Amino acid sequence: MRHWRITTFTSAVCLVTFILALLTGGHAAAAAHAGLKGRTIVIDPGHGGLDPGAVDEENGILEKEINIAVARLLAQLLRDQGARVVMTWEEESAFCRAGADGPVWRVMGLDERVAVARENRADLVVSIHANSFRDRRCFGPEIFYCRGSREGLELARCFYHKLMQLGEVTAVDVRPSSYYLLRETPMPAVIIEMGYISNRRERRLLLEPTYQQKLAEAFHQAINDYFARKKHQSP
Ligand SMILES: [Zn+2]
Repeated sequence: MRHWRITTFTSAVCLVTFILALLTGGHAAAAAHAGLKGRTIVIDPGHGGLDPGAVDEENGILEKEINIAVARLLAQLLRDQGARVVMTWEEESAFCRAGADGPVWRVMGLDERVAVARENRADLVVSIHANSFRDRRCFGPEIFYCRGSREGLELARCFYHKLMQLGEVTAVDVRPSSYYLLRETPMPAVIIEMGYISNRRERRLLLEPTYQQKLAEAFHQAINDYFARKKHQSP
């Protein structure tokens, strides 16, 4: 804590310092997000429609609802920074069409999700999920990237660091995988399992709007970090 003697001189110094801080702070913030402008990011909220993903019947929780909640928050943060965001789905109505006997619901295949990424020439793909396991003690986020992909690993590491900084998270697994979505997307991609809805503590967190916002912000920062590194690495 610093104590200022109020004189004309110190007041002037304070004012100049304040203006400088505003200017440099503003520039730093702008630079930090400059890498997102014009980037196309595909966000894939896992499951949806007829496919609820993991289900906690006891508490009436569907994974797809947590996935879409965080995905929407992330999309907003990225759009605010000038990124072009394409979501594989945004509303449940995307899975519904009128049939002769009433509405017909469907699921979205992984091939459709991959097609969205390819057709939009995404710079990066983030697929958002929540986990469940019969052993209710299991906890912690997991990040999957395409086995053998250096870019995928680099992106996964950015997510790892931001998730570990959340405070509520004590361990994050980063794993190579051959999942279809990772294998078939030519751009860097990650599948994020945000935590276990089968674990009491994590279930409570994942349902909290404030924690969902924190997750979205962590993902946003991770994506920003990834592009910031690319900028520095480019020749
Ligand atoms: Zn899932």
